[in-house]
Amino acid sequence: MEKKTAYIALGSNLAVPALQIKTAIEHIKKIAQTILINTSPFYENPPMGPQDQDDFVNAVVEIKTTLDVKSLLHALQAIEEKMGRIRIKRWGPRIIDLDLLLYENLVFQDFELTLPHPGVFDRIFFLQPLHDLTPDLCLPDGRHIVNLFKPALTAISNKIHG
Ligand code: ATP
Ligand code: CA
Ligand code: CA
Repeated sequence: MEKKTAYIALGSNLAVPALQIKTAIEHIKKIAQTILINTSPFYENPPMGPQDQDDFVNAVVEIKTTLDVKSLLHALQAIEEKMGRIRIKRWGPRIIDLDLLLYENLVFQDFELTLPHPGVFDRIFFLQPLHDLTPDLCLPDGRHIVNLFKPALTAISNKIHG
């Protein structure tokens, strides 16, 4: 199969989050038929939803893979499980969260996968690192990332790790 470009968002707010992100990237590098192309800076962000939890560290990686999209999603879920993610409440604290943001220009929705990830259009902690990686990125609907990404919002995204 042809190589596809995909972007994966990483988030953590438990047990030294930046270390968890680094560990998850090491696991991503070991996914079959997949190579890591680039890693964004790490950013510290306030939690989304419930505020009674620590800040998150967020980053995005760009990969190339010959896995089909479902195999890639399942590989990411296996990493979450391996790293001990426990699902308690929506948007609650987690040791690792791996969201598949984009897989080529695929637009898809079923019980376990929505692409693009709906947050790609408005979450600053997805848009900033996507823009860092690929400033001329176009979404499947033809919109250019620079038209979704508001530089005025970068002030709340503290760059903590390069
Ligand atoms: P959000 O998706 O709003 O960021 P979340 O990451 O906290 O919230 P999870 O509990 O991690 O949500 O995932 C819930 C479900 O979302 C998963 O079981 C997974 O099957 C599904 N899902 C749908 N689309 C995607 C995607 N693009 N990437 C990862 N998981 C997805
Ligand atoms: Ca998420
Ligand atoms: Ca998730």
